Amino acid sequence: MRLLDERRKIVQYCQLLLKSGLTKGTGGNISIYVPSENCVVISPSGVPYDSMEPEDVVLIDLDGNKIEGNYKPSSEWAMHTAVYKQKPEMQAVVHTHSVFAKTLSCLREDLPAVSYLVAVAGKKVSCAQYASFGTQELADNALTAMGDSKAVLLANHGLLAAGETIEEAFNIAEEIELCAEVYIRARGIGKPVVLDDDEMEYMLERFKTYGARHTNNSHTI
Ligand code: 13P
Ligand code: ZN
Repeated sequence: MRLLDERRKIVQYCQLLLKSGLTKGTGGNISIYVPSENCVVISPSGVPYDSMEPEDVVLIDLDGNKIEGNYKPSSEWAMHTAVYKQKPEMQAVVHTHSVFAKTLSCLREDLPAVSYLVAVAGKKVSCAQYASFGTQELADNALTAMGDSKAVLLANHGLLAAGETIEEAFNIAEEIELCAEVYIRARGIGKPVVLDDDEMEYMLERFKTYGARHTNNSHTI
């Protein structure tokens, strides 16, 4: 079986999606791109996470052609491959149906910089125009609204996050869900103050080295 390590990671993070409350049922999907193999390792469509095994994970190319697998690839494969085609530095994608991101997306609102943590994705997280799940139109709308950011809200649907690694993409999905929750709660009792552009520029710089190992102390924060 090809790419066993990546298949195992897909299963592990799909189960984490459920455990961490970022989705329910078989909602959401995860992929890892392996450029050297020209292969996208993606969760199968509609398979319960609890019983998912590495052999259930599907291998496709960037055009969605199946390379290996007994199941259909995630119905959102076009959205995943669109990220890899347009953002070559991204090698993992996590799509969730997390409640607060989804709530905001039902209002068709962007998530502003209500916390510095929004900078894990960008200066803000925009909401894409609506399209039906599993369509090329949804993939197009998502990538348009995403711009330079690493995350985007999918109207009346959920969240898409991309990272250089699966760990980064999953972390973005979790942190943006937290920010969406805080924003919605703050809106419930008042008008949240949004951090200004200069501060968010600074936060984007800070996140470039946050958590990274550095031998030169001048780079630590
Ligand atoms: P899949 O099970 O086909 O990945 O679909 C779940 C989903 O979230 C669709 O948007
Ligand atoms: Zn979905």
